[in-house]
Amino acid sequence: MKNYDRVHATKPEGIEKKKAYIVGGGIAGLATAAFLVEDGYMTPSNVNVFEQRHQHGGSMDASGDPVKGYVSRGERELEPWMECLWYLFGMVPSLEDPNRTVLDETRECNEKLRIDSQYRLTENCFQKRDYSTLGLTKQDQDDMVRLMLVPEEELDNVTIEQWFKPSFFKSNLWYYWSSMLAFQPWHSLIEMKRYTMRFTQHLPGVDHLRGILHTKYQQNDSMIIPLVRWLQEKGVNFVLGTTVNDLDIRKDKDQKFAVTAIQMITNGEPKTVVVDEGDLVFITNGSMTQNTTTGSMHEAPSRNDDQVNRGCFTLWENIAKKNPAFGRPERFISNNAKTSWISYTLTITDYPELFDYVTRTTGNIPGTGGVITLTDSAWFMSINCPMQPMFPDQPDNVQVLWGYGLYYAPKGNYIQKPMNECTGEEICKELLYHMGLKDKIDEIIPHCNLIPTMMPYITSQFMPRRSSGDRPEVIPAGSTNLAFIGQYVEIPGDVVFTVETSVRTAMVAAYGLLKLDKPVTPLFTGQNDIRIIVACAKKMLGVEKITLKDLPPINPLKLPAMIDQLLEAVNSVPKIKEGEVIY
Ligand SMILES: Cc1cc2nc3c(=O)[nH]c(=O)nc-3n(C[C@H](O)[C@H](O)[C@H](O)COP(=O)(O)OP(=O)(O)OC[C@H]3O[C@@H](n4cnc5c(N)ncnc54)[C@H](O)[C@@H]3O)c2cc1C
Repeated sequence: MKNYDRVHATKPEGIEKKKAYIVGGGIAGLATAAFLVEDGYMTPSNVNVFEQRHQHGGSMDASGDPVKGYVSRGERELEPWMECLWYLFGMVPSLEDPNRTVLDETRECNEKLRIDSQYRLTENCFQKRDYSTLGLTKQDQDDMVRLMLVPEEELDNVTIEQWFKPSFFKSNLWYYWSSMLAFQPWHSLIEMKRYTMRFTQHLPGVDHLRGILHTKYQQNDSMIIPLVRWLQEKGVNFVLGTTVNDLDIRKDKDQKFAVTAIQMITNGEPKTVVVDEGDLVFITNGSMTQNTTTGSMHEAPSRNDDQVNRGCFTLWENIAKKNPAFGRPERFISNNAKTSWISYTLTITDYPELFDYVTRTTGNIPGTGGVITLTDSAWFMSINCPMQPMFPDQPDNVQVLWGYGLYYAPKGNYIQKPMNECTGEEICKELLYHMGLKDKIDEIIPHCNLIPTMMPYITSQFMPRRSSGDRPEVIPAGSTNLAFIGQYVEIPGDVVFTVETSVRTAMVAAYGLLKLDKPVTPLFTGQNDIRIIVACAKKMLGVEKITLKDLPPINPLKLPAMIDQLLEAVNSVPKIKEGEVIY
């Protein structure tokens, strides 16, 4: 954010009386509450957050203890250009030192312990794979460049595998991208294009994960709990155990509409909340961790493919019937087989030798290696040995490792069963096999408690879609008091599956519905920086210096046409809009 944009908005007229109703207590809902109160002058006790579960944080939750074992459904890679996220956490006091913010704490922790992976990809039971180049063929390189240039409108419903040749899916770049971002070949090419553009700045350091940030503990303790506590101290009203299932919507003249009531089940009882004139409604219209099931060391996680009760997806389905501007939920949630995978949290007690082994083998102490991908694992497993302790109450004799397998259906290489049929113990054995510890399985297993979680919608936001219309805009056309927040909402140019996106939708929604005269922090556009472009080109070509032979062969007869093309490209570079940030 330009410091010039750090203005305080003018206080909206009548704000003292306005109420806000926020559906979903994940980071999107919590951030909305924060922006309404901090930047929008709303009275905190007028801000209500309805949450289905009895726990805050949504997909960023975590639970457990050293005896029962810890569970964190996700572990997040963050980065410095998550502008709205860091703006938010620059306001929130850290739990451990209330005189400092979560941003202060996170930055200090990353300055002290920087991620610089020395062992990003492995194969053959934890041998380092040769990833000295991205491993792209000439055709793959051309396909990447074409992808960056093609307009999104030409990619409606196109999948990644329809664009790239099979060689691409064996390249190191694909292993990096798919393990960091959870892409599958059948996912939306538009989403992949957006990632390629939005995170261009990370391509040069992708093999070392340079520029990726971590929090001090997992994100529930480092971000969600401080944020919830801060909002609670201000007086924001949290209503847990409440499932919102429908909205009453009044159509006004001039294609305008307003929500007039919210239908919900609260602690088992149906309830209607009337929305008065001027009050605001914010809906998280999907959750990638909806209907998660948890297994144990001795039980595989069952599947929950209930199509009738699926939380905010059900709410979205109900309201989408009322207005085409609310998008098409069925695009994202109709094929659980293609949107599921399993993550796991491994609690290791009285066996420091396991982390010592990883440190010795990889050259990274915990917290500095980031994700390690076991590329030849049939389940395409990845692990992360985060900074310890990962949980604040974790004793010294306990270490916690987090991992996942992107393919749950094939049989494992060591355990001859699909991942979703495996107990925690079986997943742990498969993991130890791929970590080169087959001979020590019997010695290590008694120290392990691996808890798997099956998430049927974890990549639903990546399903093929049209370039417009399938996701609602944050404030859909005609809305006077309704906004959508979270991962299933369109923010032009931004990606999905990040915390930043949820926070950004919250900022756009809160500032937009309150009509604040304060700019939303613009997206970082590293793809427009010539230094980043050149560094990326060298990385893709696998060269230190670009020479004539790296350029496409020049046919003298085609030279005038090429110059025309070049001029056309130069002249179609978008103009700098007034106030736009140029990095
Ligand atoms: C395994 C995993 C890995 C991830 N890795 C990264 C990463 O590396 N980097 C990154 O930036 N992000 C990552 N993410 C994504 C990030 O965590 C999410 O994008 C973000 O937390 C989503 O927040 P949200 O508030 O939009 O949705 P959610 O957190 O899903 O919140 C939705 C909330 O709504 C509630 N709810 C559902 N239905 C209803 C209803 N009908 N009524 C009331 N409440 C309801 C849910 O219980 C939930 O609390 C990862 C997520 C996971 C799970």
